[in-house]
Amino acid sequence: MAVRELILLALDELQISSLMERALRAVDYDVAIVHDRSRLEKALDESSPALLLIGETFHAENGIEVAKGQLDRFPTLPILLYAEKDTTGTAKAVVNAGLSGYLYPPLKTDDIVDSVKRSLVRARHLGDWIRREVRETTSSLEKRAEISEAEKDRLESIIANIEDGVIVLDDRRSILLMNRVAREAFSLDGLDMTGRPVSEVSPNNDFQALLTKINDGGVKYYELNFDDGRVFNAQHTPIPGIGSAITMQDISYLKRIDQMKDDFVHTVSHDLRSPLTAVLGYAELVERVGPLNEQQTEFVHRIQGSVQNITALVNDLLDLGRLEAGFDTRRETVRIESILQYSLGLLDSLVRKKNIHLTQEIAKDLPPLRANPIRIRQMIDNLVGNAIKYAPDSGEIRISLQSEDHQIILQIADNGPGIPLAEQSLIFDKFYRASNVAETSRGTGLGLAIVKSIVEAHHGRVWVESKLDQGASFFVVLPAFEPKENQ
Ligand code: ATP
Ligand code: MG
Repeated sequence: MAVRELILLALDELQISSLMERALRAVDYDVAIVHDRSRLEKALDESSPALLLIGETFHAENGIEVAKGQLDRFPTLPILLYAEKDTTGTAKAVVNAGLSGYLYPPLKTDDIVDSVKRSLVRARHLGDWIRREVRETTSSLEKRAEISEAEKDRLESIIANIEDGVIVLDDRRSILLMNRVAREAFSLDGLDMTGRPVSEVSPNNDFQALLTKINDGGVKYYELNFDDGRVFNAQHTPIPGIGSAITMQDISYLKRIDQMKDDFVHTVSHDLRSPLTAVLGYAELVERVGPLNEQQTEFVHRIQGSVQNITALVNDLLDLGRLEAGFDTRRETVRIESILQYSLGLLDSLVRKKNIHLTQEIAKDLPPLRANPIRIRQMIDNLVGNAIKYAPDSGEIRISLQSEDHQIILQIADNGPGIPLAEQSLIFDKFYRASNVAETSRGTGLGLAIVKSIVEAHHGRVWVESKLDQGASFFVVLPAFEPKENQ
């Protein structure tokens, strides 16, 4: 035996302990003897014995209880009990306490040595088994860690290299990951934002508004405009078990194309206006300068009708251009209910012509608006005009004006063909006409684009609710003007 194993004897009786010491030393064990609790613990701590042999009574204490206490500290330490006699009670107590075995008189040297050896072999096996288990568990954990580390690297490099900005957040809105494109978008090039609250990413107004909307559980898509002219389309997606992700795509080029298209349309409409005025003027003069036959008169009227249509279109386009450019800044205190009545007065002949049943529900004491009355009339004209145009003959139109939470809510509903769900978000785009409009129905698809621009210029919202063949309901919500609060 290269290093001799140490057997610790905690026995009160001198005779017994020296008998055991002799027996054990004879077979090459090292032996230490302790007589009280504190030395026992010190010896266990400092000299790591291979086995403890403790008396049934040790220093006036119950040896089994003392042994149990030591097993709590050294669960793999083999402990033998020296009992004064062999009883089933002792055997049971030894098993219950988790001790390795027990010895009792008459003591024979061989019995002592055998018991000690058996306990040590069992303890060694147990130790080997534990070490093996620990080794295997550790290596499988290491392997798993290696795999997840590799997966993490792969995921990170995918996220780092995609051309969309990605910010992954935990459920407390702290940044878990922010890729290069996202850092560049917010000009955070060298900064590592990991672990910081997402609100610290940028003071950009649109971004902060996006975070507020996320908190409210609102919109999924959001446009982020940067001072240098870049525009990003951002989306927020919850990720169960992690938190959420904000992804963003640079749509500046699309915005530039859109702007170019608007500029082009605006220039063309502007340039068309003067020649159109001339065409219309001369068409009117033709009738005055000499008698025309019936066919000539009809042709001239057709020319006039067409030119008036184009002029209306050109005017709409120029209007839109002005609204979109933010040139419409005229604001007065206006009563929307009066404008509505004025508008309905002008459209009355059309309502009668189609024999439409029009009902109104106007709340009393509506607050005023701070608005451009001409634009508000234009908006109402377009919405009521559409309702009249798309409602069937003898159809129904319901108009309501209410106020709620410092807002005015205008609703215009008809029982016409409605709008297919998939197209409801498109009808406010320029030139868009839904696929279900009758072929005979005429229009350019600019009316609702104008309505939307006007509503937005007045910080309001407009939307439609409709089911195919069950009519359409257009809603406009505008902030009310409350002089006491605002001034
Ligand atoms: P215009 O520019 O002359 O107004 P338009 O009426 O076709 O032409 P918009 O007012 O912009 O254009 O409306 C866009 C489309 O939305 C319409 O072509 C129609 O398909 C649909 N739409 C609008 N209002 C209604 C309505 N009340 N009922 C059913 N469809 C509607
Ligand atoms: Mg219209």
